Amino acid sequence: MSNSRSEIENYDAPVLENGEEAQTGTKIYCANCIHCKLVPAPAETSGQFYLRVRCDAGKWKKKLGGEKQYKYFTVTRRSIAFCESYEPMGDSEEFLSDLRRTLPIRDEIYDKD
Ligand code: SF4
Repeated sequence: MSNSRSEIENYDAPVLENGEEAQTGTKIYCANCIHCKLVPAPAETSGQFYLRVRCDAGKWKKKLGGEKQYKYFTVTRRSIAFCESYEPMGDSEEFLSDLRRTLPIRDEIYDKD
């Protein structure tokens, strides 16, 4: 997952279903893809934000249109059977294992300072 927070853009692309698995048993984990970006989302209180993840290749769409973003702490659950835009950033199992150790366990609020 790339953690550039400044890349908030909109794309058109198919809906990605959470937890989809390939029939071969191999899964692509979006967290290990260069297009999976960590972005801030404003909280109700000024000066605070949540962390969200988005696909900057535009693969995550809401059913009624528009970009879908997910809570950061759920990022390891995002998987897909096949994605033509997948660009792995390294060994998936090792990366996911490290990420699971450091992910927050809930949707946390952060201060901007
Ligand atoms: S480009 Fe494909 S594999 Fe990469 S984050 Fe988006 S949906 Fe996941």
